[in-house]
Amino acid sequence: MQLFNEIWMTIQSVFAVVLSAVMAFCPFIIPSYRGLPAVTYEIRTVPVYAENAVLLTLAEDGASGYRIVHGQNAYHVEVRAAQELQRYFERAAGALLPIVTDTEPAAGKEIVIGRTNRAVDALVDQTLYEDSFQIVAVGETLLIAGGETRGTLFGVYAFLEEFLGCRWFTPELEVVPELSRAVIPADIDVTQTPAFGFRHTSWWPAQDTAWRARMKLNGSMTFIHGSIDESYTDLVMFGGSDAAHTFNSFMPPAVYFANNPEYFALQEDGTRSSGQPCLSHPAVLALTKAGIARWIDEYPRAKYLSVSQNDNWFYCKCAECAAIDAAQGSPAGSMIHFVNKVADYVKHELGSDVLIHTLAYQYTVVPPKNLRPAENVAIQLCSIDCSHHEPYKISNPRFVADVKAWSEHTDNLLIWDYNFNFAHYHTPFPDLRIIQPNVQTFYENGAVGFYGQGNTQSLSGEFGELRAYMVAKLMWNPYLDMERLMEEFLYFYYGPGYKNIQKYIAFAQSRRGYTFHIGSKPIMPVLFNPFDLARAQAYFDACAAAGSEAQRARTERSALQLRYYASAEQIGVFFPWNSNRIDAARQLHEDFVRLGITHLREGPRMMAQPDYNLPADQWSE
Ligand SMILES: [Zn+2]
Repeated sequence: MQLFNEIWMTIQSVFAVVLSAVMAFCPFIIPSYRGLPAVTYEIRTVPVYAENAVLLTLAEDGASGYRIVHGQNAYHVEVRAAQELQRYFERAAGALLPIVTDTEPAAGKEIVIGRTNRAVDALVDQTLYEDSFQIVAVGETLLIAGGETRGTLFGVYAFLEEFLGCRWFTPELEVVPELSRAVIPADIDVTQTPAFGFRHTSWWPAQDTAWRARMKLNGSMTFIHGSIDESYTDLVMFGGSDAAHTFNSFMPPAVYFANNPEYFALQEDGTRSSGQPCLSHPAVLALTKAGIARWIDEYPRAKYLSVSQNDNWFYCKCAECAAIDAAQGSPAGSMIHFVNKVADYVKHELGSDVLIHTLAYQYTVVPPKNLRPAENVAIQLCSIDCSHHEPYKISNPRFVADVKAWSEHTDNLLIWDYNFNFAHYHTPFPDLRIIQPNVQTFYENGAVGFYGQGNTQSLSGEFGELRAYMVAKLMWNPYLDMERLMEEFLYFYYGPGYKNIQKYIAFAQSRRGYTFHIGSKPIMPVLFNPFDLARAQAYFDACAAAGSEAQRARTERSALQLRYYASAEQIGVFFPWNSNRIDAARQLHEDFVRLGITHLREGPRMMAQPDYNLPADQWSE
């Protein structure tokens, strides 16, 4: 089957090149495609209730008898919750509700925020996790309460979203409906607890503190993965110089390799590599303990400190390391053996309850046979080698077996997942349909944390903002109606021509490659010939034509993926014989700049003045 697919893909790509060559001399052979007409309906985000539903009216025609109450000594996050409720309620219902503390005598019409002296406080479930919340109506009183560090604020956002129809699609795009009547079911009684206790994504929009809070994200990994601003909520944080690949922080090769090569990894040819430490050498353990002790002092708010392999495969094969790995059936053996010692030191000698984090990544993805991570060790399993052509349980059953095995080994399993192309940020990557089933797989197999890595450096010329929204939503609840969420997002983000974007997503999906990864060259994830590119461009053009100015700009930015693809693969107008290719390249670069794209791949910036003879994947500094 794979061979058949590879042959078919090769035929298709040869066809794309031949077509590009013909097109260089006969551009008129490209048919003129048309997109879909704009829709004339509006998508409403406000819930519709049955006619006989018993409703509680919070405001009508811009008037309300309600006020917002929080505790006199409320935590700053709960005060923020009251303020956010006041702000969005006024915008939606036209009524500015006063905020008072619980030192005021109780009145009937109150929205009670967090813990207070009010009678409804007796209903607060004190066993709820700190991100969880309740929304309960008792008579005319409405209670929104949860964990004080986050849950109560998340409860307010859920209330605004699910009952008043507010949406926060991106930091710049929020939807607040105008309501003549703000009503809720009179018997409202909602409790929500997130699927994953640690929720973090580094997609560009998630660097906005307010947006992160509104999407109920709670995690922070490092400074490079967005802000660690705690002005909205307390965060579940990593401390230290980084959240991954930290061995060099404890034992920098520049300091130790020349005089103590024996601290570093023995290779098969007898040389030492500075790429990884020797995890059996006592000095390595001593240096790591000292480094962790320092971090515990420097980062008192950290829940996790990472003791994790560097980003390469040069692990140690000395007799001692190799013996552990052989006995455990995986190089994760010597890793867990080492990390457990650090964790034991942290717990018993330093008396710290910080969790020691390590990666199950590349050579350590397969768990040890019977060596268990200590209770205060957290494992973060990375899906870096997975193909994205189908959900992992279909495309990568061995990886899913590793997920299951790790979750049997530890209660602290975090996931590190990816949904984009690191080497080509702005090329089609048709894996939107696998995000939800994958998140479900991780949740159903016991993962307690999820980090969705994204393009953290730049706005997206693909669907980065949609991906950020989806992954943030799914971390809270993997079983949401994703079709509906996506449709809402596309409608508001791209405008009434959004059916074209839906059509394009399905079209790209139908042209996806047999296997593709997060570093694949553009032709692997999707195979477009010049006819396909023209048809896809017609969808984006039809969408842009129907949108507002802001929607048109977003559509144009997302459409950059087609020209980037054509340039990188040198097909269509970017074919080397095509006399228009230099002008097309210049125009593409100008559009990247105009639409706010700063990086084309992970790492370096896009050049200010690239050589337009070169494909766009060579325009980075
Ligand atoms: Zn060794």
